[in-house]
Amino acid sequence: MQNWEVNGKTVLLRVDFNVPIKDGVIKDASRIEKSLDTIRFLLAKGAKLIVLSHLGRPLKELLPDGTIDYGKFSLAPVSEALRKSLGVNVIFAKDCAGSDTIEQLNQLKAGEILLCENTRFNKQEEKADPLWSKQLADLAEFYVNDAFGSAHREHASTATVARFFDRDHKAFGFLMKAEVDNGKKVLHDAQKPFTAILGGAKVSDKILLIENLMDRCDHILIGGGMAYTLLAAQGYRIGTSLLEKDKIDLAKELIEKAKSKGVQLVLPEDSVVAAQFSNDVPIRITQDQNIEDNEMGLDVGPKTVELFSQYILKSKTLIWNGPMGVFEMSNFASGTKAIAQAVADATSQGAYSLIGGGDSAAAINQFGLAAQVSFVSTGGGAMLELLEGKELPGVAAILD
Ligand code: AMP
Repeated sequence: MQNWEVNGKTVLLRVDFNVPIKDGVIKDASRIEKSLDTIRFLLAKGAKLIVLSHLGRPLKELLPDGTIDYGKFSLAPVSEALRKSLGVNVIFAKDCAGSDTIEQLNQLKAGEILLCENTRFNKQEEKADPLWSKQLADLAEFYVNDAFGSAHREHASTATVARFFDRDHKAFGFLMKAEVDNGKKVLHDAQKPFTAILGGAKVSDKILLIENLMDRCDHILIGGGMAYTLLAAQGYRIGTSLLEKDKIDLAKELIEKAKSKGVQLVLPEDSVVAAQFSNDVPIRITQDQNIEDNEMGLDVGPKTVELFSQYILKSKTLIWNGPMGVFEMSNFASGTKAIAQAVADATSQGAYSLIGGGDSAAAINQFGLAAQVSFVSTGGGAMLELLEGKELPGVAAILD
């Protein structure tokens, strides 16, 4: 993209502007801001920029009469936000690659933006329809994908469209390139010791991730709700903590596999427990791994924080995916906060740290530590799949 001559040329840019909108007001514009570098760069080069994005799931959340809620899922408020942020003319097309797009495109000048309406108003988008993808491709001479958050989906505007451009006419945007580079760096170019910190609700969501990381990491530290299925598999009493009974055998296999590969799989040594999933009931810290029958583990305890921090501080590469406890409730946020701090401290001592692929990105932002780690991914599901070792359709379609 950097060496393209796009002055006066049409560039089709897919971004992830899937922002929360209530009554026409954007509640959090951070997803828009993340792609502004790419947009500014292309506009400064004199491109005529056609911008595409999805917003929500309009075909899944229909009105009671079975029709699309065009008002709720319209990208129109985004055109105003773009105009304000960039100070350039932003034309809004009422469709995506339809007659209004073509008509508006005729008016579009170099250095201006044509924002098309929600890609997902068209059923062809999620079906990756080749004919419609070709219609999208026919709008422009170049294609840029900056929508990393959608890169794990083979949709028309995120992947299929790219196949109609040759390698010299398609590229990653800056955000997407940073995500892909950072993900690949930890998987293929990690300095040792390499430690993964995994948490979040369910072990079933993270099985592929654990398996892929086992071939790369020295230590895997596991906290959060997912730890309790692994603790149960080790024979500890876990009370009413989150348990995926049908995954106990698999948990045993993972523990054995780690041993045979010489990877240290480290589980919590204590927990912050309560009788209910609530911030308004008394809490207790357990003596060891065992939890009473009427209690549930909702955060890692101080012994675990100490142990995990030791591993983190001696690492040169860190991946963190998933919170250590129910950090949304203040009584159960300490473990996640302390681990976030340890990751920030290790980073200041020279370690490389990647945060993402789960709620840990939200946690690190909540604790104000995002600037003190190496990279915070914006692509939850996409980063998870990249770290699982999968090929993402949106990435592959650019590199093909
Ligand atoms: P994930 O999207 O997989 O990263 O999971 C994040 C969710 O896991 C957050 O909403 C946390 O509140 C939740 N979580 C973390 N630890 C626990 C726990 N011990 N019990 C129940 N939920 C948890």
